[in-house]
Amino acid sequence: MTRSFCDSHIHLAGFCVARSQLHLDGMTLDEIHSYLLQIAHQRQAGTWIRGRGWEMNLWCDQMHRVSGFLDSVFPENPVSFVSKDGHSLWLNRIAMAETGLSSDQTDPPGGRYDRDPQTGLLTGMLRETAAEEVLRRLPKPTETEIEALLPDGIRILIENGITSVHAFENETNIHRLIRYLRRSSQKLKCRFYVESHDFDSVFRFFHTERDLPDTFCFGGLKLFADGALGSRTAAVTCPYNHDSSNFGLLVMDRHQITEAGLRAAEYGTDVSVHAIGDRALGETLEAFKLIRSRFPRTVLRVEHIQLARKNDIDCMKELGVIASIQPSHLLSDRAMAAEIWSLQTGLLYPYGSLENAAIPILFGSDAPIEPPDPFRSLRAAMFRLDWPDDPDIPVWHPDEIMSIPAAAHSACATNIRRILSTDTGWGEGCRADLAVWDRDPMDYIRSGGPRPQALLVMAGGSIVLDRLTS
Ligand SMILES: [Zn+2]
Repeated sequence: MTRSFCDSHIHLAGFCVARSQLHLDGMTLDEIHSYLLQIAHQRQAGTWIRGRGWEMNLWCDQMHRVSGFLDSVFPENPVSFVSKDGHSLWLNRIAMAETGLSSDQTDPPGGRYDRDPQTGLLTGMLRETAAEEVLRRLPKPTETEIEALLPDGIRILIENGITSVHAFENETNIHRLIRYLRRSSQKLKCRFYVESHDFDSVFRFFHTERDLPDTFCFGGLKLFADGALGSRTAAVTCPYNHDSSNFGLLVMDRHQITEAGLRAAEYGTDVSVHAIGDRALGETLEAFKLIRSRFPRTVLRVEHIQLARKNDIDCMKELGVIASIQPSHLLSDRAMAAEIWSLQTGLLYPYGSLENAAIPILFGSDAPIEPPDPFRSLRAAMFRLDWPDDPDIPVWHPDEIMSIPAAAHSACATNIRRILSTDTGWGEGCRADLAVWDRDPMDYIRSGGPRPQALLVMAGGSIVLDRLTS
């Protein structure tokens, strides 16, 4: 038996919907091509082809092939593929036309449209805010289509022993998830975080809506300080390898983070900032210093922290900042980070350093980017190696390994105030948040082999999955 888990960084609606899309994870450009050819005949002309998971890092030396690549397979369908890290978007010509993109488009602040160096035409590769902007305009699946995908996604979470999530969603998805969970027999505790453009209206909703079940609460505001590793837009202090002019993209600077963060703190909500690179983390902490000086009790959290300088970790400790990390990114990113961040001098995926500094740590999956699998997070944090153990692959930065008790606490921390104290919420008289497994999860985390199956899961004292009596 274990405590049940909290996925402290998930895009819940996105995860449920992504399960119905094409998955391009881990494929080379040639593999993507043959996979698309196989399925092309099943698609009706004119219908949107949606997919995700492609990794530029696997074919960054072949960027010249991008332009026209998707048109050759789908000349009659609009195609839109989101990258694995969610920060880039790849469109074909029809999709560009349908979303109103043309070559006289200028790059938006914090984003870029890739262009053919010879012709100046758009290649269909969009980065950061350019991608975000177009993603918002893409035709959405209908309400009925999305609602039909929620039960299956939530079932996966519960089967993985997850009874609580911190969901990073837009306003529409928050309402959609609440509507569904209110009438569903499925139970999932949700703490919602929303981006700034939706903040005021979601805040008002949570403060005026009567009889919301206590399983839903508003966490607060989510901001972005930078991009992501795979798209080479995470903001770093030393340049990307092979690209000496690239220091990533700062999506928001300290002044913008301070301004938005103060507004959220005044409302009494958490302030959460996405910062992957060390430059983004430094910028975020400068903003947090100001926010903290006026709001000593506001929950301040940084999402991701894949590269950090030692003095920034000390500063997080001083300011009482929560580290919200996604250890399974380490397993997927290891080769890429070692390659494109070889010039960085900060600490890579510095989980051990965060633990040693006694910084409160939350684990999340960032699903749909990684599977919502707490065992994978625990494996990554405790061993910094994927399964199976391979004597030829050394542990990656062994000094950053987390201890078993600290990792287990971070994976199960369902209550944000509790992670800031020593109270585990686990003992006689507490409402049970637990999972019973058919084999010892620690054996699986340590050595692999057959995956433990949940036999019983309880959330807040109620049984939410029962394979013992059925
Ligand atoms: Zn995320």
